[in-house]
Amino acid sequence: MTAPTPVHGLRAAPTGRVLVVGNCSVDAAYRVPRFPRAGESLLADGRSRDAGGKGANQAVAAARCGVATMLCGAIGRDEPGRWLRARLEDEGLVLDGVREVAEPTDVSIIWVTPDGENRIVSTDAAARSLAHADVTPSLGGMTAGGVLLMQGNLGADLTGSVLETARSRGLVTILNVAPVVAGISSLLPLVDHAVVNEVEAEQLTGCPDPETAARAIRDRGVTYVVVTLGAAGACTDGPSGVESVLADPVEAVDTTGAGDVFCGVYAASLAARRSQSSAVRLAVRAATVSVTRPGTQSAFPTRAELAALASRLEL
Ligand code: ATP
Repeated sequence: MTAPTPVHGLRAAPTGRVLVVGNCSVDAAYRVPRFPRAGESLLADGRSRDAGGKGANQAVAAARCGVATMLCGAIGRDEPGRWLRARLEDEGLVLDGVREVAEPTDVSIIWVTPDGENRIVSTDAAARSLAHADVTPSLGGMTAGGVLLMQGNLGADLTGSVLETARSRGLVTILNVAPVVAGISSLLPLVDHAVVNEVEAEQLTGCPDPETAARAIRDRGVTYVVVTLGAAGACTDGPSGVESVLADPVEAVDTTGAGDVFCGVYAASLAARRSQSSAVRLAVRAATVSVTRPGTQSAFPTRAELAALASRLEL
C-alpha cells in the first residue's frame, strides 16, 4: 500500500501510525420529514448508501489526515462487504486486518430529519465474530509510540484484551467509550485518552455536567478525557487542567459520524506528535465540517479540507 500523502502539519513520525480496531458497516440513510411515531408508517424523502461503522469511520478520518492507518475489523462474504472493502481501499487504508466472516456484513439503518437529528438501528453480528487472535497480526504491525483507537462496539472482553496488549507494546491507547456497553467502564485504567459525548459521559459517571463527568472519568485512571458537546464543541480534562474548545457556528444538516470524525482526527493528530490541546482543536473543527452536509463518510472533511484546517490553526 502507498503511504497516504501527509497533510500539511500532520506529518507522521516513522512510528506514528494509527491502528483502529472496530466495526465496519454499510449505512443506509433515509431522509425523513420527522421521526415516525410508534405504529406509524412514514414515507422517506430519499435514501442513500454510505460506508460506515464507528471503526471504519474513525479509520477513514485518520487516514485523511495523511497518517498511515490500519483498520482491523470484520465484514461478510457478500455484496455489501465487497462494496465496503472497495470504498475503504479507495481511502488508502491498510486493510490486511479486515477479516471476511461467515456472518452478513453489518448494516445501520439511519433516519435523518431536516434539522440534522438522527436515529440509528444497527446489526453487529460480523463485528461480534471478531476474536483477539484476529487482531494480533495488526497489533504486531505497530511499534511503540503508535496509537491504538477503539470504540465500545466490540464488547468489553475483546476491547480489554486488545487494550492490554497495546499497553504492553508501548502504544498510546484511545477509547471512544461509545456505545457504553456492560463492563466497559472497568477498562478505563487501560486507557490514555477517553473520548465520550455528553450522554456517554453521564452514562459512565451519573454526572450530567460534562466537566464534572470528565473529572470523574479521569479519577478512574485515564490521563486525558474529552467530552464532545455537539454544537458547543468539546471540553477536556488532563494533567494541565480543564480546557474548552468552541465549535464554529454552522447550519447542521446531518450529524451522523461527527463523533467519529472527531476521534479519527484526534488519533491522527496524536500519532503525528501534536499536543493533546492541538489535537482537540483540530478534531472539533474537522467534526464541525462533517455536520454541514448529508451522509456519513461522504460528509467527512477531505484531505484538502483537513490540510486547510490544520494550516489555519497553525499546527
Ligand atoms: P454523532 O453520534 O452524531 O456522530 P456524537 O454524539 O458522538 O456525534 P457530538 O458531541 O454530537 O458527538 O459531536 C462531535 C463533534 O462534532 C463536536 O465536538 C463538534 O465539533 C461537532 N458538531 C456536532 N454537532 C455540531 C453542530 N450542530 N454544530 C457544530 N459542530 C457540531
